[in-house]
Amino acid sequence: MTPQAEQIRGHWAILGGTFDPVHIGHLRIALQLRDAGFERVLMMPNRIPPHRPAPQATTEQRLAMLQRATAGLDGIEVSDIELQRPECSYSAITLEVLQQEHPGIHFTWVLGTDAWFSFDRWHRCDDILALANLLVISRPGDRQPQAPWQYQQWLARQSSLEELLHSPAGRICQHTLPGLDISATGLRRAIAKGENIRFLTPDSVLDYLTQQQLYR
Ligand code: ATP
Repeated sequence: MTPQAEQIRGHWAILGGTFDPVHIGHLRIALQLRDAGFERVLMMPNRIPPHRPAPQATTEQRLAMLQRATAGLDGIEVSDIELQRPECSYSAITLEVLQQEHPGIHFTWVLGTDAWFSFDRWHRCDDILALANLLVISRPGDRQPQAPWQYQQWLARQSSLEELLHSPAGRICQHTLPGLDISATGLRRAIAKGENIRFLTPDSVLDYLTQQQLYR
């Protein structure tokens, strides 16, 4: 991605996740998305990840860590929209709520390669593409399996990042970002073993983790 590309007004990226805890891998992705041209990047913790075990930290703790991590970062915001709803976080519903709250804004949903290869099983996946674009980002060490045959229907929607940034919805861009080989799972394990995780997450998050005695 081009650093500091022209900002596209009214086009926001959504980076959803568990953020249990947030780390610099997440923050680098958010910064790179902003610098690629998205006016705003919403970091959106989810309440009940549909295909994953429950997070170790509470929703309040995950939100607090994200707010600390993003404080003072221009164009990067935390959205608690999925935490406000009592039920499971379905992207199609989240997008409908966002569009009601922010008329005129275009949205791009950011997802990792693994999530992309199960996208055909997401709740109302065709509606998601009617409401937003998809940006599929690869992580370090990602496998690149062949897309399932069902994906043929979406091939015509593939586009460059530039085209996606200028489209209100329906485009799919697969993009490799220089990433960091770091995961929340790795952080949780390191903390449980008593290892020093300084610089893998901002100091403000580290202070909070220590104060709350998380992941020990
Ligand atoms: P866990 O280890 O608990 O599965 P995680 O570190 O993968 O967590 P998530 O909250 O699941 O973090 O990630 C949110 C989003 O950030 C996902 O789209 C995920 O693919 C992406 N992501 C997480 N870590 C990285 C990284 N190091 N580089 C690039 N993208 C990342």
